[in-house]
Amino acid sequence: MSTIFLVDMDAFFVSVEELYDPSLKGKPVVVGGELEWREGRWVAPRGVAAAASYAARRYGIHSAMPLAQALRLCPQAVFLPGHHDRYREHSEKIQEIFGSFTPRFEMVSVDEGYLDMTGTERLWGQPLKAAALLHERVRCQTGLPCSIGVAGSRLVAKVACELAKPNGVLAVVPGQEARLLAPLPVRRIPGIGKTTEKRLRQLGVKTVADLAAIGGGMLEEVFGASGAAMFRKTAGEDAGGWYDTAVGEAEDAKSISHETTFDIDTADGQKLQATLSELSQMVAHRLREQNFFARTVTLKLRYSDFRTITRAQTLPAPTDLDGDLFRTAMALFTAHWNGSAVRLVGVRASGLERRPGQMDLLDGERRQKWHKALEAADRVRGRFGFDAVQLAGGMAGSRKPKSTTGEE
Ligand SMILES: [Mg+2]
Repeated sequence: MSTIFLVDMDAFFVSVEELYDPSLKGKPVVVGGELEWREGRWVAPRGVAAAASYAARRYGIHSAMPLAQALRLCPQAVFLPGHHDRYREHSEKIQEIFGSFTPRFEMVSVDEGYLDMTGTERLWGQPLKAAALLHERVRCQTGLPCSIGVAGSRLVAKVACELAKPNGVLAVVPGQEARLLAPLPVRRIPGIGKTTEKRLRQLGVKTVADLAAIGGGMLEEVFGASGAAMFRKTAGEDAGGWYDTAVGEAEDAKSISHETTFDIDTADGQKLQATLSELSQMVAHRLREQNFFARTVTLKLRYSDFRTITRAQTLPAPTDLDGDLFRTAMALFTAHWNGSAVRLVGVRASGLERRPGQMDLLDGERRQKWHKALEAADRVRGRFGFDAVQLAGGMAGSRKPKSTTGEE
């Protein structure tokens, strides 16, 4: 039997902002952009909320909601542009604490990680005690609140953590998994999205108990392999997608991404290309900063009507070079853009692996030449900010970047 912890920071971006400005505590706070005073009234910038405080959530505001809508729901909310350098810094502190509990941990986003605590009883005591200790250590060393779910599988740990929020610890006793899950709506099961929920509703399924009652055979008939996995999930088993792999083994545990919401939707191919170039540079910069190589590049496009597509391509060899990311992003863009006006573009690097000690010899020379130039650029950026240096191709775009390390 495994012991898995899922630790998720509570309203992470907002909690970090509160560390620097305690007067924000208890107020409705939205991170994502600042209001502008225009023609006698406050106007929200375009773009979406990256995070919302619990007080803001009581007004129905949630992350990924357009800022204009958040402003309508709660005109008295505090709107902040956010400080991604601070979030990253605190994310690193959190990872350090995780690592001090077990070497087997895996971040799934900037503020959330799975810890495999199997066999650590002698060191840390029973799981619930260990979780309480970890909860306290995170609070003491970072000043930030988190919630922890403890269970025998990642799936149940994730669900338990959601139930424990905010600022709680919930451990599920082995054997009680199905009972915990039974009354919950099916959407609470990781991997069941809006579309599946809709199809399940047509079958009369609302809760996890309904889902279990339908039976594995029937679910497999309707949904194929994912149906069989769904059935196993009702018992709290890790099944389907990355829930099949052990902690630390997931191929795509981390990613680095940047995206931009345009002030005015644009169908100008050159402008989009220039923006992709800038975003690729920003992502590559972060890869090098964190000593990662990426295997996969994903392009994200959101059209004016909010329809969003993501298209991914795996690279022939892992890379941390601006040009490699940009060429791949451009190839995806050329293949998939339908020509209509775009509201948002994003570039994501995933399938990350640690930078190898030696560059591969195949095109080592080209790589090293680029590395020297890019490292020089990175140093300047470190001192004067990202805008101080731009490589060719990214000049024409008007950038208003939103860094999304993702807080979901
Ligand atoms: Mg969180």
